[in-house]
Amino acid sequence: MKICNIKEIAEIDSNVLDYMNRKQHEKVVYCSDSSTGLKAIIAIHNTNLGPALGGTRMWAYNNISEATKDVLRLSRGMTYKAAITGLNLGGGKAVIIGDSNNKNDAMMRSFGKFVESQNGQYITAEDVGMSTHDMKVIFEETNHVVGKPIELGGSGDPSVVTAYGVLMGMKGSAKYKWGSDKLENKKVLVQGVGNVGENLIQLLLKENADIYINDVNEVKLNNINKKYNVKIIEKNIFSSDIDIYAPCALGGTLNEKTIPQLKCAIVAGAANNQLAKEYIHDEMLRENNILYAPDFLINAGGLINVYSELKGFSNSQVMKKTENIFDTTISILKKSEKENISTQKAALKIAKEKVFKKHNA
Ligand code: NAD
Repeated sequence: MKICNIKEIAEIDSNVLDYMNRKQHEKVVYCSDSSTGLKAIIAIHNTNLGPALGGTRMWAYNNISEATKDVLRLSRGMTYKAAITGLNLGGGKAVIIGDSNNKNDAMMRSFGKFVESQNGQYITAEDVGMSTHDMKVIFEETNHVVGKPIELGGSGDPSVVTAYGVLMGMKGSAKYKWGSDKLENKKVLVQGVGNVGENLIQLLLKENADIYINDVNEVKLNNINKKYNVKIIEKNIFSSDIDIYAPCALGGTLNEKTIPQLKCAIVAGAANNQLAKEYIHDEMLRENNILYAPDFLINAGGLINVYSELKGFSNSQVMKKTENIFDTTISILKKSEKENISTQKAALKIAKEKVFKKHNA
């Protein structure tokens, strides 16, 4: 296994160093292991508040620059997600370059060694393209892994807690916008009925919300429709007549094309990086009088869940901490109004203060 550091890689792409300087990343490490075909990158954005924690994503990136860009962006998001949630964690992320259908245990084992080489400065977890089985194999090579299966002392599937946090963010937003956190008869569109989306639907049913769903996977869509008797919106989802849009599929759905179509009053969902361009589309939503609950604030339930493995929290402590998302959402919305800035900027401002103030103190 060859581990090279950023100084070598900078010769490949000097933009990486500029980006790292601008966004204040601490470190990026590349690993290649020809014996298993592993090509991986670990990015550590910031460790002021604690070790950098963030999942590993396996994706068929077109090239190393694309993978580097993704890992840098995702690791930065983790720093601010942990900070705004009040967790003693830094932000990090890893990517494995390749088709997740072509992975094997030897490759995962090699990746485990790569994580171990960071001496606990980076803690990994499951993300897109990785499975619970992969986590088990990685755990054989390093202790610096969370989100392990329950039988291995882990916290299990995080999506239940993530959905609960999203509900808290949604209710906080409703309270701020409409004066009541009740979602009864509110038309809520859940886009993406996967792990988080389905759990969110279950919670929304208890709130007596009027639920609409959309998914690119027709089989899933029809199954969920039958199981919960909710309504399907197949076409023109962005211009549909709804009160709350909950993006629970992929990122980037809030952009130049979609925002002008939106008729909803609130956007509150689980997907990471919902704003296609962070500092353009946050303002566009504000100009359109649409309340945006920042994704990295309200989808932190999963992170709280894996954090419990490090701290030995009980399930009720996890849920209590996740419930705080309700109050944090309201305080961010108030700050945004008071300072006349977008909700995204208000949330980032608070998170940055926590990360950099503590360090400077
Ligand atoms: P998942 O893969 O289980 O579900 C995603 C669903 O979105 C799938 O059903 C998929 O078919 C659907 N989808 C994909 N593209 C779509 C599109 N263009 N339009 C409509 N539907 C589409 O994933 P998940 O674990 O439920 O996570 C959902 C989102 O929440 C992701 O963006 C993830 O990064 C984010 N998130 C998840 C967690 C967690 O605990 N799982 C935590 C934080 C953030």
